[in-house]
Amino acid sequence: MRITDVTCHILQSKVEQPFVSARGWVYSTRASCIVEVSTDEGITGWGECYGPAAVNKALIDTQYRPRVIGRDPFDVEVVWEDLYNRIKDYGAQGFSITALSGIDIALWDIMGRAVNKPVHKLIGGAHRAEVQAYATGLYFIDMERLVEEAVEEAQKYAAQGFHAIKMKIGLGDAKLDLRRVAAVREAIGPGVKLAVDANHCFTVPQAIQLGRAMEELDLMWFEEPISPEDHAGYAQVSQALDMAVAGGENDFTRWGFRDIIASKAMDIVQPDVCAAGGISECRKIAALASAHGVECVPHAWGSAIGLAATVQFLAALPDTPPCLRPAPPMLEFEQTPNPLRDHLAKEPIVQVNGIVAVPGGPGLGIEVDRAVLNQYKVA
Ligand SMILES: [Mg+2]
Repeated sequence: MRITDVTCHILQSKVEQPFVSARGWVYSTRASCIVEVSTDEGITGWGECYGPAAVNKALIDTQYRPRVIGRDPFDVEVVWEDLYNRIKDYGAQGFSITALSGIDIALWDIMGRAVNKPVHKLIGGAHRAEVQAYATGLYFIDMERLVEEAVEEAQKYAAQGFHAIKMKIGLGDAKLDLRRVAAVREAIGPGVKLAVDANHCFTVPQAIQLGRAMEELDLMWFEEPISPEDHAGYAQVSQALDMAVAGGENDFTRWGFRDIIASKAMDIVQPDVCAAGGISECRKIAALASAHGVECVPHAWGSAIGLAATVQFLAALPDTPPCLRPAPPMLEFEQTPNPLRDHLAKEPIVQVNGIVAVPGGPGLGIEVDRAVLNQYKVA
């Protein structure tokens, strides 16, 4: 089989009720670079790139596409190494890797379709037929009702069946952050798991101080307390706090994760399959983590394609540690309004009672709805 073309589709949708994170970014649109890889056997594979879509498209169109056409999709890791070694002198992190991730995922989709097996069967098999999902949300919308709106949104997810929720923190006021997290914890009760995500807005001392204050609230993890460049700072925060410290959505490749994992700078690493180098590279990152007793719980933020790729990867991750009643790695099921996540697949990935079934169809296990693709396509 030979690859005949690589096409990037930029999809964009408007967010009716814009929301804000600790970064100060206002999310008023959702966009994604979707990668379509065609072959001479009529099999098409789909992938997705994390981050600003036009840059990913430009990188693929100008740097990667000419090197991928004519290759055999089953040579997925040969292609990966070739593309990486072509670009790393100019960027071994960031866009060059997010763009590469989209191609890698599409090649795994093609391989699965070619042999009529889901991707998890090609990467070692599923440790579980269904995954536990946690709802990501509780951004900042109404600055006058920050505590109330968080409580209401958390109660909504609990009523929808979620048994775990991740909320945003980082309001520039540690006392308000603490009050808001405590209010959510009280509202959802002890039976629903809760994590917090600061989107790297704190200094090391701020993170340690707030982390200690939050420890009595029974949190699963404290995500991205500090800036992703400061791996030594992560080690400081991780050592100072009893609760787990997580991060890695802004880290890339096995080399980027190597020192984080070896130094145990984080208790939980969160590579994103659409960012860190695709399914091929995330498997290597997960192996590094396993060897060091670090948990791997992937980050996910994108369309139905990225979500499906994450579920396939997650299904193949072992329990850490294996035991009588393990706590399997959970699926990040982001819940902010996003039609690209909810409608791009003909049979969307959904949760029931906090559980998502691992798709058993070929490749990523979803079928892209071209009418929806065209509806949201802007370039
Ligand atoms: Mg995060």
